[in-house]
Amino acid sequence: MFNNDRTTTQELLKKAGFLQGVFDAMPASVFVVDSDIRIFNVNTAATRMFDMDRDAFISKKGGEALHCVNALSAAGGCGKSAHCSDCIIRNSVRQASQGLNVFRIPTAMRAQKHGQIEEEQFMITASAISYDKESFIILTLEDVTELKKTQKELEQTANKLNIITSVLGEGVYVLDAGGALTFMNPEAERLLGWTEKELLGKNIHEVIHFQRADGTPLPASECPVFKSISSNACYRVAEDVFTRKDGELVPIALVSTPICDDGKVKGSVAAFHDISERKRVQEALKNANLLLERQATTDILTGVFNRLKFNDLLDAELQRAVRQGLPLSVIMFDIDHFKRINDTFGHHAGDSVLKELTCIVRDTLRKYDSLARWGGEEFVVLSPGNTLENTRLLAERIRHNIEKHSFAGMGVVTSSFGVSAFAEGDDADALLQRVDGALYKAKNSGRNRVEAAFCPAE
Ligand code: GH3
Ligand code: MG
Ligand code: MG
Repeated sequence: MFNNDRTTTQELLKKAGFLQGVFDAMPASVFVVDSDIRIFNVNTAATRMFDMDRDAFISKKGGEALHCVNALSAAGGCGKSAHCSDCIIRNSVRQASQGLNVFRIPTAMRAQKHGQIEEEQFMITASAISYDKESFIILTLEDVTELKKTQKELEQTANKLNIITSVLGEGVYVLDAGGALTFMNPEAERLLGWTEKELLGKNIHEVIHFQRADGTPLPASECPVFKSISSNACYRVAEDVFTRKDGELVPIALVSTPICDDGKVKGSVAAFHDISERKRVQEALKNANLLLERQATTDILTGVFNRLKFNDLLDAELQRAVRQGLPLSVIMFDIDHFKRINDTFGHHAGDSVLKELTCIVRDTLRKYDSLARWGGEEFVVLSPGNTLENTRLLAERIRHNIEKHSFAGMGVVTSSFGVSAFAEGDDADALLQRVDGALYKAKNSGRNRVEAAFCPAE
């Protein structure tokens, strides 16, 4: 019986020693106090943190060893009183003992260290326990001074970044690894019509990048921005579209860069700007160039090609005919007695005949043929891939269609035609001279007829 009691006592002592060991091994400072902050036990971390041994702590009266930053006494004690209503320590203990639950609050506190009062940042946790019908509070103080400092530095950096991005003329947004929005600057808000608050946590692709410029859907699986993030590569595009909150498409240029940490992609940051103005200027420039080119190559009165353009086309077709060995024919025609029309009906009526006649010719030609005004009331047709005989028949059809057309108030108008085809050794001049000779022959043979000039060898 005596032996059994001794065994139990030894076991209890062993257990108590073990528990004190666990208590001392805790990295945070732990105090066991009552509701008046009388200290019953402290762990090693607490003695180290406050540079005070365990007995010194335990001999202190409530509130003497631990002071929150509101205790302003120069002596280091709680200058207001042991019952100061501002004391966070006292409040934490009171809250925990009243609620018998865990109370946690971050605070600045004063601690006596190396004979000096030092202010540090702590996370206080107070939890109530009952033991042997008595209530105790387990007060845990974690020194978060370094953590707070880092937090403050991070906040300052974030503030700086906020200020910088708020004045940027570029829209900027940041996504997490899943494509959800974590940040958007004011310019991005302006361009997209959404506020940062509205889009925080939303999948940005589904909101602003779900369709292409032509309105067809752009699934996330095909999105080059997402692909670049998953493959950890920067993505640049000179022209893409985002959809605004009001449904309008905004043309944009975009650079998206993955954000990496420890070699892992944690998200991405993208900068973009509206290219509507650039596109508008580009379009206007393109139209102006087209107009200039049209003016430089078109006859103003009739709208058909001018002589300059015809010469270019003829040179190109001659080269092709030589290269590919294909036939190439030319028709030259001249309105008969046009001077009479002008003299009888006036210059304006003459102009109308020129316009009406080109329409008839255009309607008769094949789509590969080109009509140009050679000068005055004289025209040329370039007919690639067409043999001399077929071109002569084409000229006959044109002649016939002009002759049968009734020109308003003027009756019948006729034309004379010369036709010739490319022959080996020909240059543009030789071919044109031959066709001009054929036209001359048609005029001299009574007009309103087609004359074909065979190549010299034929
Ligand atoms: P031919 O049958 O021999 O070709 O006789 P023609 O009267 O047609 O030829 P001519 O060379 O004697 O006269 C051509 C006329 O065409 C003279 C010129 O005033 C007129 N003409 C040239 N260009 C234009 C134009 O743009 N508009 C008008 N209305 N007349 C033009
Ligand atoms: Mg004439
Ligand atoms: Mg003429």
